[in-house]
Amino acid sequence: MKQGIKYTGTPSWEELESAPGRPSQQRLEKGPVAFIECVQEIPCNPCEKACPFQAITVASPITNLPRLNEEKCTGCGICIASCPGLAIFKIDLNYSPTTALVEFPYEYYPLPEEGEVVPCANRWGKFVAQGKVLKIKNPRTYDGTSTIAVEIPKAFYLDVRTICRKEDY
Ligand code: SF4
Ligand code: SF4
Repeated sequence: MKQGIKYTGTPSWEELESAPGRPSQQRLEKGPVAFIECVQEIPCNPCEKACPFQAITVASPITNLPRLNEEKCTGCGICIASCPGLAIFKIDLNYSPTTALVEFPYEYYPLPEEGEVVPCANRWGKFVAQGKVLKIKNPRTYDGTSTIAVEIPKAFYLDVRTICRKEDY
């Protein structure tokens, strides 16, 4: 089967590895940081405008892939809800000695509860591991997109990108 976003709607590992929005392993080890999984050259740049620290650059032409300046990124997570493609995540790899935090956009209802343990899923919506919902954000400025932060076993930080729909568990 052909891999990649053009064929599956989901980026392949090769596409993710070469995305200029992906932080280095060294930066991931340092603390919370944006993880931009934008791999299609489409005319789009809300992420660039959303970042208060100028850590994301699209520039010109507008079809450039967003580039993350990982040293400028504070891991605030503000850019997550700005992306119409739901392609921006936040990773805190060393949230605890055994767990990582993954924050992602979520546009389904009902939302889970903070503190709830929920099944977490990969980019294809397949179950990966149980995770604990730490924080749900849905301010007016997010324009209807919520963000959910889950604590998961550290080994799955590259896989978990959402939670299973509540009606499925
Ligand atoms: S997490 Fe915050 S600082 Fe980092 S790119 Fe997103 S908006 Fe900018
Ligand atoms: S807002 Fe999302 S889809 Fe648009 S350029 Fe930024 S990361 Fe890519």
